[in-house]
Amino acid sequence: MNALSIAGLRKNYGNLAAVDGIDLEIPQGCVFGLLGPNGAGKSTTFKCALGLIRASAGRVLFAGAPFSPAVLERVAYVPERSVLYDWMSVGEHIGYMQHSFAGFDPARARELLAQLGVGSEKTKVRALSKGMRTATAVALAFARRVDLLVLDEPTSGLDPVNQRSVLNLIINEAAQGTTVVFSSHQIGQVERAAERIAVMQSGRIVLEGVVDDLKAGRKIVEGILPSDDFSVNGLAGDARIGRIERNGRILRAFVIEEPDEVATRMNALGAQGLRVVDLSLEDIFLDAVAPKAATASVVEER
Ligand code: ATP
Repeated sequence: MNALSIAGLRKNYGNLAAVDGIDLEIPQGCVFGLLGPNGAGKSTTFKCALGLIRASAGRVLFAGAPFSPAVLERVAYVPERSVLYDWMSVGEHIGYMQHSFAGFDPARARELLAQLGVGSEKTKVRALSKGMRTATAVALAFARRVDLLVLDEPTSGLDPVNQRSVLNLIINEAAQGTTVVFSSHQIGQVERAAERIAVMQSGRIVLEGVVDDLKAGRKIVEGILPSDDFSVNGLAGDARIGRIERNGRILRAFVIEEPDEVATRMNALGAQGLRVVDLSLEDIFLDAVAPKAATASVVEER
């Protein structure tokens, strides 16, 4: 059974479909990365799924069960903007969490706060830096024993050391069977932690799958052309090439199959310094959200 199952989820704000009928199946124990440009609908999806705002349509199931107070005990959510209380100290938040959630472990919270460098428990939240607030919210969420963690940009504003710590926490939690769903603009981080991803754009899922499957068999052949105005029309119509990017003398061909043969052909056309490289998640993301007009202009160059 999937940890989270979303079907036909929709949220309209007036004429805007912030979430435009999405379906997502997130297996138990999986780290799932939700990517998308600003305003794509990631936060709205999380809020609708967790019942924080009312969806216009759709069905959300947590391990097969609809949302209920019992589900809240098994799910932890860290919103994009931390919901800590300014007038309370870090220690008071620990007490508050302990009263609110049966599965909260205060010793674990203290350990995580120390690990993320959040100083004294006596510090009032209002005196914490933006990054320290995020770190506190993350530590409090990870100190709960839950089945599902939903983290909206959990590394935003954190320094590189803390970003790495939070990613490790995500990976370790999943290794123990917790499902982690998180959004991020740091594609490298998503690539490191997530086993499956979905890319949202304008309220829709434009790409979804297991990261290794999305990368499988796809390579980039890079080369340098002899001059800026050198024509690469010879590559037009090569069915092995999905798309060509050209930036001055640098040519990058996104190859679906036979990358070595494509490299040989590019070499015969005059390209030099050819190398075959793996597609990164960033390449896959940019490909998925590329404006249609930009793709067309690239195609014209072929
Ligand atoms: P970001 O990466 O910038 O955080 P996001 O993918 O999380 O973006 P959302 O915050 O879900 O995007 O917003 C999706 C769309 O819905 C945006 O166009 C946003 O302006 C709009 N939106 C969000 N909340 C509201 C609201 N309360 N009223 C009206 N429009 C809203």
